[in-house]
Amino acid sequence: MAARPAPYLDELNPAQREAVERLDGPVLMLAGAGTGKTKALTSRIVHLLSTGKARPNEILSVTFTNKAAREMKDRVGRMLGHQIEGMPWLGTFHAICVKLLRRHAELAGLKSNFTILDSDDQIRLMKQVIAANNIDEKRWPARQLASLIDGWKNRALTPEKVPAADAGAFNNRGTELYAQYQTRLRELNACDFGDLLLHVVTIFQTHEDVLSQYQRWFRYILVDEYQDTNVAQYLWLRLLAQGHRNICCVGDDDQSIYGWRGAEVGNILRFEKDFPGAHVVRLEQNYRSTAHILAAASGVIRGNEGRLGKELWTEAEGGEKLRLIGHWDGEEEARWIGEEIESMQSGTRGMQPVSLDDMAILVRASHQMRAFEDRFLTIGLPYRVIGGPRFYERMEIRDAMAYFRLVVSPEDDLAFERVVNRPKRGLGDKAQQVIQQTAREFGVPLLQGASIAVDEDRIKGKGGGQLRLLCENLARWGRMVGAPGMTHMELAEIILDESGYTAMWQNDKTPEAPGRLENLKELVKALEGFENLQGFLEHVSLIMDNETEEAGEKVSIMTLHAAKGLEFPAVFLPGWEDGLFPSQRSMDESGLKGLEEERRLAYVGITRAEQVCTISFAGNRRVFGQWQSALPSRFIDELPEAHVEVLTPPGLYGGGYGAAGPAGGSGLDQRAADANVYNSPGWKRMQARAGQRPVRQPQEARNQVIDLQAVSAFETGQRVFHQKFGYGAITGIEGDKLEVDFEKAGVKKVVSRFVTAADS
Ligand code: ATP
Ligand code: MG
Repeated sequence: MAARPAPYLDELNPAQREAVERLDGPVLMLAGAGTGKTKALTSRIVHLLSTGKARPNEILSVTFTNKAAREMKDRVGRMLGHQIEGMPWLGTFHAICVKLLRRHAELAGLKSNFTILDSDDQIRLMKQVIAANNIDEKRWPARQLASLIDGWKNRALTPEKVPAADAGAFNNRGTELYAQYQTRLRELNACDFGDLLLHVVTIFQTHEDVLSQYQRWFRYILVDEYQDTNVAQYLWLRLLAQGHRNICCVGDDDQSIYGWRGAEVGNILRFEKDFPGAHVVRLEQNYRSTAHILAAASGVIRGNEGRLGKELWTEAEGGEKLRLIGHWDGEEEARWIGEEIESMQSGTRGMQPVSLDDMAILVRASHQMRAFEDRFLTIGLPYRVIGGPRFYERMEIRDAMAYFRLVVSPEDDLAFERVVNRPKRGLGDKAQQVIQQTAREFGVPLLQGASIAVDEDRIKGKGGGQLRLLCENLARWGRMVGAPGMTHMELAEIILDESGYTAMWQNDKTPEAPGRLENLKELVKALEGFENLQGFLEHVSLIMDNETEEAGEKVSIMTLHAAKGLEFPAVFLPGWEDGLFPSQRSMDESGLKGLEEERRLAYVGITRAEQVCTISFAGNRRVFGQWQSALPSRFIDELPEAHVEVLTPPGLYGGGYGAAGPAGGSGLDQRAADANVYNSPGWKRMQARAGQRPVRQPQEARNQVIDLQAVSAFETGQRVFHQKFGYGAITGIEGDKLEVDFEKAGVKKVVSRFVTAADS
C-alpha cells in the first residue's frame, strides 16, 4: 500500500512509535505514570485502521472505565480525521462481556434478555439463599458470602472448581451456597457483575467452536491498565489471543490498585512468559507533570519494596512545589478547597485563570465527597461526581429502574419485589407471601404468579384490585416497548405516572421529596441518549461514572481509584490522615501488602496532577457523629521536603491565603519548613492546640446559602444563551430549571445557572 502521511506518528517519541508500528506479535509496554502509554495505545488503533490491517469491528480494545473507552473512541476519530462507524469492541471487560454473553446466553443457561443485578440485588438474593438454608444471617452475613463468591468469580472459579482448600469458607457452607446462588440467578434469568466474565470464560473453555470464532474475529487485541486485571480477565484475554498472539498490553506495576478486588499485578510481570518472544517497550519520559510533582510522587513510591523501579524524567522543569496544608477539621478543609478553587478559577492566585473542568478533587473514600458536595452546593460551585453510580444509587432512581426492568423482562423477580408495594397498594407481607407461594406452585416468575393469584381471587380486598391493576399495567407497558410512535422517554414517563410512583413523591411531605422528583425527571432525561430502554438499563448496570451532564464547567470529584488514567492541571488530594489514607484496614493488617497498595494509590493520586497538586489533612473528623482526632498521613512524611511547600491553615491565622498563595510568611510555617514539620509530633500538637481557638470563618458573605429560586430572574419568552445549546427562547420556568426552545437543539430543560440573558 502506498505510504500515506501519518501525523499521529510524528507526535510520538521513538519508543512509543516502536510500540505503535510493531503490529504483529505480542507487545508489552511497561512504564510509569504519564509516559504516554494510553496515547501510544490509541495511536496503535489509528495505525491499524489507517494501514488497513483491521476494520474497526475486528479490534478488541479493553479500557478500565467506560469514560476511558469513550475518550479513546473520540481520540481515534480525531486522529483519523473522521468519525469511525463505531468500534463495537472497544470498552471495559464488562461491557464487552455483556455483548458476548447476550449472543451466547443459552450456553450459560440464560436467555439473551437476562438482567444484570447490582450489588444491592445481589445481597438481597444472597440473604434469601442464606435464609432458605436456615443459617443465621446475623452470624453469617450476606455481605461476607457476597465477597467470598465475588472473590471466586474473580478467580474464574465456578462452584465445581472451588478448590478443596476453600471448603471451610462460610462455616463450611460456602461452596454449596455459591452453587445455590447460581441456580437462583439462572431461575431469575439474571447474572451478577462477576458472572459476566465468568460465564464468557466458561463458554470459551467449553465451546471450542465459539472460542475459535472470536479468535479469528478479534484480529488485534489491545489492553490498557493491564496491571489491574484479575485472573478471570487474564484467562479471557489469554484464550482470545492464543491463536494469532496479536496482543498489546500496557500498564504500570506502580499503579496496581485493585488487589482488593482480585487484581493480580503478577499478570503483567508474567506477560513475557505467557507470550514468549514478546516485545517489551519501556517509556521514561513523563509528559504530564512538572518536575516537583513528579519528584514528590517518586519519593512516595520509593517506599515500596519489590518494584521494578522505573525512573521517570520530565522536560517540564520548575513550576510550583507540591502544596501541603493542614486544617482543623473536614468542614474547614472543604471550605478552603472551595475558596481555593474559586480563586484559581478567577485567576487571583497570580496564575492564569484555570477552568473548573481542569480541577479535580480526589478522595480516598467516597464518603469524603459529602463534605465537598455540600459545600459546593452551598456556594453554587458546579461540580460533577465521577466514578461511582451515585445518582443511580438513589432510592427513587432504583425504584424507577425496577419498574423499567420489570417492563423489559417480566421474570425479574427482584424488580417485582421492589415495586410491588411501592407506592403502597395494600399488599403487605401476607399478600406478598401468597404471591410467592402461587409463583412457586406454578413454577413461574413472581409477576406471573401475581396474575394467577389475582385471577384465582387468592388476594382479597383493595390489595387484590390494586395488584390486578399493576399486572395489567405492566403487561400493557410491556406491549408498548418498541411500539411505533412512542419513544422510550414517553414510555418511561407513562410508567412512572400510571404506576402512581410519581404521585407518591408528589404527595410526600418530607423535605427530600422535591429533590427526588427532580431526580426522576433527570432520569427520564438520561434516557435520551439511548436507543431503547434495554440499552439504557444495560448502561446503568455498567456505568462507572455518573454523568447527568449539564452544560458548563465543573470541578470533578472522584475517588482515587476512579482517577486512574486521567489527568488534570490542578489536583486536590484531601484527607491525608492515618486511618483514612492509608486506610485503617491497611494499617491493621499484618504485612505490608495493604499498605503498599495504599502507597501506590498515593502515587496514582499525585501523578494525576499536571501543574498544581495540593495535599491536605484535617486534625479532626466527625465519624458517625463522633469527633475523632487524626494524625497526618504517614505518606506525608514520605514526601521529599525539597519539593513541598507548606501552606498556612486559614482558620488559625486569619485567612488571606486566597490571594497570597502559598503563605510562607507565618512563623509557625517557617519553623515547619525548617524542621521537617510533617514529621514532628510537636508541630502536630501545636497545630491541634492552636486549632482549639475559635475558628475564624473566612469570607463570611460567601457562606450564605444561595437561593437558587431567587436567582432565577428569567421570564417566559425571554431570549437566552446556553454554552452548550446556543440561543433559544424560554418556554417554561420551574424553580431553578428552565425549559428553553433552542434554535438548534430543540426544547431542553436546563439549569438557570448555566443560562445567560441574550439580546433579542
Ligand atoms: P497513566 O499511567 O497515568 O495512565 P499514560 O502513560 O497512559 O499515563 P498518557 O495519558 O497516554 O500517559 O499521556 C500523558 C500525557 O502526555 C497526555 O496528556 C498525552 O497527550 C501526553 N503525551 C504522551 N506522549 C506524548 C509525546 N510523545 N509527546 C507529547 N505529549 C505526549
Ligand atoms: Mg494511561
